[in-house]
Amino acid sequence: MTVAWTEHRFSGGILALDTTNTVVHRCDPARRFDRFDDPAEISRFAEAASIFCRHEIGRPVVVRDAEAIVGMVRSLRESIDALFRAPAQGKPLEAGAMADFLRNCAMAIDGHEELAATAGAPFGTSDGPLRFEAALAVSAVSLLDLANLKRLKVCPNCNWLFLDKSRNSSRLWCDMSVCGNRAKAKRHYRRQREDREVRYEA
Ligand SMILES: [Zn+2]
Repeated sequence: MTVAWTEHRFSGGILALDTTNTVVHRCDPARRFDRFDDPAEISRFAEAASIFCRHEIGRPVVVRDAEAIVGMVRSLRESIDALFRAPAQGKPLEAGAMADFLRNCAMAIDGHEELAATAGAPFGTSDGPLRFEAALAVSAVSLLDLANLKRLKVCPNCNWLFLDKSRNSSRLWCDMSVCGNRAKAKRHYRRQREDREVRYEA
């Protein structure tokens, strides 16, 4: 079944985190699944990212040969999660994870002269298409910026990583309209059940 790459699936606020969040239930081995199991989904994801990550990248993101890059993309994606989940949980960046991350970034950027980054324009100033793997690496490197590192969070409902861009850093959920409401519904259900149990015991 094809994935509907809706705006919700881009709640991470930055391409690197939205890509990391394509592994669902990452921290639960029994339920974990990868939306990139079908490499064609990488192309469809890039197409949606061209719209939903426009504010970050400013140009279309394309995949030329999904089969050829699926290994590299997954490897980079996993190294992003391995490095940045720690600071999102208030822990320091690990040197080993950083080295692995930078090696993956180097491989993804290598040869993509269409990037042509300039000061203040890390994705380049061209309106032309940028390859997905290069865009992913540049987005991921931007997470090392202190301003971004400080705003990294983990959604307590779905475990997705996201950047809290709210002025007072008070965002709790990756997406209030999905995870916030689910948590509210869960609390409501628990309260009802506790009420019933109390009545039964009485
Ligand atoms: Zn969430």
